[in-house]
Amino acid sequence: MHSLDAFAQEKLDALDRRGLRRGLVDTFREDGIWVERGGKRLLSFSCNDYLNLTQHPALKEAAKTAIDRYGAGSGASRLITGNHPLYAELEERLAQVKQTEAAIVFGSGYLANSGIIPVLIGPEGLIVIDELAHACLFSGSQLSRGKVITFRHNDVAHARELLTTHRAAHDHALVVTDGVFSMDGDLAPLDDLLTLANDHDAWLMTDDAHGIGVIGGGRGSSFIGNAHVPIPLQMGTLSKAIGAYGGYLCASAPVIELMRNRARTLVYSTGLPPSAVAAAIAALDLIEREPDYAALPVKKAKAFTAMLGLPEAQSPIVPIVIGEADDAVAASRLLIEEGFLAAPIRPPTVPAGTARLRLTFTAQHPMDEIERLAAIVRERVLVS
Ligand SMILES: *Cc1c(COP(=O)(O)O)cnc(C)c1O
Repeated sequence: MHSLDAFAQEKLDALDRRGLRRGLVDTFREDGIWVERGGKRLLSFSCNDYLNLTQHPALKEAAKTAIDRYGAGSGASRLITGNHPLYAELEERLAQVKQTEAAIVFGSGYLANSGIIPVLIGPEGLIVIDELAHACLFSGSQLSRGKVITFRHNDVAHARELLTTHRAAHDHALVVTDGVFSMDGDLAPLDDLLTLANDHDAWLMTDDAHGIGVIGGGRGSSFIGNAHVPIPLQMGTLSKAIGAYGGYLCASAPVIELMRNRARTLVYSTGLPPSAVAAAIAALDLIEREPDYAALPVKKAKAFTAMLGLPEAQSPIVPIVIGEADDAVAASRLLIEEGFLAAPIRPPTVPAGTARLRLTFTAQHPMDEIERLAAIVRERVLVS
């Protein structure tokens, strides 16, 4: 065997032995909530399509119109010729939603985080990041070549200790967190983190991939209750509740202008297809017009946690922590037999020993099915 293939096979065998080998499964998403897999129709609790907008007629129509007008692809990076006119409209809307001076759209959320952080932090800089922050925030942090230190999940006192110890030795500092944590569904203490960052002349960056569209009247996790937390760097994705594709950063005008010039994942990557940008604009229209609809995913998640006596959901994401990877896979299989798709989440996506079912609730999940799922989880998943 060629050494390259032997290398790959060894790695795969090691994953198999630990029950961590994963595979792609053809999935036909017929509407916002039902999927078909292997000839079986399942109610999905695994899509991040919280508002079921990927299948909404207004988004599909906007995407088709954009293809007819501007083409299937953008043809170059945005700084060359890929900056079709829909971008300006989307960026203006995003800045409006987040109440910042400006916004910039990237190819995806992953590309956004990989590009943003190294623009702000260099080898002399410091990054203080929540240990459960999304993988692509860690990728961006590593690309900066600055010093990266994790703080215990949502532990502001620990983050304060770290900044007190390390801030002075670095030219700039960034505090990084998810707004809504992707695998746990809990919220970051943004108010306290902003105060902390300001106290240490550090810049706060939040990743609101799971907040925009569904939290704070659709504006995201910096708009909870009546308070608006003026976070200087608000990143997010257009690929989840927004139902399209792409990533964004909302920030001040000079910061956005700097990103346009320096973020490598923007400068050296092709612009989004016009259809994705048009669909995102249509989604923001819908969300602005129907805040009650935008509130439904969290409402349904709260109903589910109440049925099971779990801690009250703060977002559309509810984790059912099982423990071992094998057991999470078995629980997921059991639910498939009952007609529910709840993908098992295993290390390294979550810490070892915390493999789980990650349930996501969407606007259109029927309440009677949520009740049936809760009963099965109570009687057959949580007992074993
Ligand atoms: C999904 C996700 C991303 C990546 O966004 P994409 O647009 O899918 O690349 C970034 N951060 C968090 C917290 C996410 O959950």
